[in-house]
Amino acid sequence: MRAHALIVAAGAGQRAGDGPPKPYRALAGRSVLSRTLAAFARHPGIDRLRVVIRASDAALYGAAARGFEDRLDPPVTGGAERQESVRLGLEAMAADGLCGPPELVLIHDAARPFLPAAVIDRTLAALGDGARGACAALPAVDTLRRAEDALCGELVDRAGLWRAQTPQAFRFDAILGAHRDLANVAVTDDAELARRAGIAVRLIDGAPENLKLTTPADFAFAETWARGAEGAAASPVPRIGHGYDVHKFGENADGSSDHVMLCGVAVPHETGLLGHSDADVGLHALTDAVLGAVADGDIGAHFPPSEAVWRGASSDRFLAHAVGLVGARGGRLTHLDVTLICERPKIRPHVAAMRARIAAIAGVPESAVSVKATTSEGLGFTGRREGIAATATATVLL
Ligand code: MG
Repeated sequence: MRAHALIVAAGAGQRAGDGPPKPYRALAGRSVLSRTLAAFARHPGIDRLRVVIRASDAALYGAAARGFEDRLDPPVTGGAERQESVRLGLEAMAADGLCGPPELVLIHDAARPFLPAAVIDRTLAALGDGARGACAALPAVDTLRRAEDALCGELVDRAGLWRAQTPQAFRFDAILGAHRDLANVAVTDDAELARRAGIAVRLIDGAPENLKLTTPADFAFAETWARGAEGAAASPVPRIGHGYDVHKFGENADGSSDHVMLCGVAVPHETGLLGHSDADVGLHALTDAVLGAVADGDIGAHFPPSEAVWRGASSDRFLAHAVGLVGARGGRLTHLDVTLICERPKIRPHVAAMRARIAAIAGVPESAVSVKATTSEGLGFTGRREGIAATATATVLL
């Protein structure tokens, strides 16, 4: 069934203190109305949106509506009271010559910007289930008490009491008829008007965050809420990359054969490692792990062995470059872990120096760098002492 949202933004909002009218106040940099529009615009069950505004707010409305043009019908100028504003909005929908009135309408206060999609879901589900009206509401949980001259007066039994929110949703023809018939009966919401017109309105669960911004204190709370919600949405996602490399024992690219470069440290050995660069198998695996975490190819793509400039190159440049790519994406490298696989040379005496060197190259604390070593029990090419293999992982927050 075609469902449209009618958003009421025509109130003066006199309790909200100084500043622009309530719907146009900014919360964490975005206006209340823009947030409310977004709640409906991104819901797949809502076809069109229309807003009832005050004539004097037209310019403010234009700014708040930016980005929603494809879903918004032209705004309607409201009346002196909310009830009249809603009726004028419904009449405009009824008179829409282009696509005609919707079958369902969700009437919502612009001043409730944190409407969760789940409440719209429940509202539409109730109408789809045959209800002629549905009202978002929350059961009263606080102890209710009448005030008597600012003193605690008698308790009010809260059993069966609900606090009505919006959206309040109806079969379009039914609520339009109620507004026309009862235009002279003053009520505070559409559920009450519907009830008086004999329309059964089903209570559905609202949401605590769907609060109506009324007082300066409400706006202060909403500002914090909006910042918190958006901060959480923007919180970084951990990504883990993996790398693997092998180099064969032989003469180093610089002609020496008295050491191997491992994790940035020259480790004395009876032979070097063959390779185009310094053949630092540990830094190569780490570089690929970092590139993997940002899904940006591999070391061979960034530093082609065919390019003479990398001949004999110190591999710290490769790792530093990969870490720089993380930063360029707004990410942060948080952990590196490398395992060297060989029978000889013995790695353990060099682990501390390797951790310090990797930490310095990658710009992370040593506590975020792990260097491990294992033999392969005499099996395979590493077991036959033909070369050294390394595996590595890198953790990045993006
Ligand atoms: Mg390599």
